[in-house]
Amino acid sequence: MADRHPLIAGNWKMNLTVDEAVDLAAKIRAGIAERTVGADVVVGPTDLCVEAVSRELKGTIVGVAGQNMHKERSGAYTGEVSGEMLRAAGANWVILGHSERRQYFGETDAGVAAKAVSALAAGLKPILCVGETLEERESGRTLEVVLGQVDGVLAGLPENELAGLTLAYEPVWAIGTGLTASNEQAQEVHGAIRNRLATNLGSAIAEKIRILYGGSVKPDNVAGLLALQDVDGALVGGASLDAESFLSLIPPLPST
Ligand code: PEP
Repeated sequence: MADRHPLIAGNWKMNLTVDEAVDLAAKIRAGIAERTVGADVVVGPTDLCVEAVSRELKGTIVGVAGQNMHKERSGAYTGEVSGEMLRAAGANWVILGHSERRQYFGETDAGVAAKAVSALAAGLKPILCVGETLEERESGRTLEVVLGQVDGVLAGLPENELAGLTLAYEPVWAIGTGLTASNEQAQEVHGAIRNRLATNLGSAIAEKIRILYGGSVKPDNVAGLLALQDVDGALVGGASLDAESFLSLIPPLPST
């Protein structure tokens, strides 16, 4: 993981009512207070719960992420929420380009890049997701697809924001399936992403950008993944919906 500070982010997807989300946030708050925490920690409730969860987690180290946003600040976009609105409700992060957004809502790399520009302008830190489908992996196109997505989602981002960015490599075939990329598969893709970033942005910036792994991360596989050279944390779906399992994914402060 080099010198990068890890990030553990929970994606709650379309789960939990406001009361349930606040209850989970309260359990995470209590658990965090009881342990040393060697990572940045973020939870991603639905838009409807961002305000209440942010209030519950105020004063803790736990950040709050939206799961998506519109690229415009406001306007006639029925059903949408802007970065400014998420920020005003208490979010400081936003997950963009999740494979479920790409698969079910037609999101493209260019659309994700436009949202990322707008997120940064709104004061949100984007987590930009990339990942190949099973078919793409089986036809030997993993790196071509993933690196193409990396180029696409970073296009047009302000140069001064690049070093602070977070990418998430999430093989689509590993999301919610119980299948995880092996440590070798994860490191191969993370290393290739890091090399691409170094080629395109310079190695100083590439060494700063965090690359999370996502795809059925669980308490029993997280340590192996976090130990990999180019894995800087995890984006977690299912295992983030239970406070104990989410808390057990967070590495402690290394002893000095
Ligand atoms: C995700 O939603 O980003 C994810 C990785 O889900 P899961 O951990 O359930 O595979």
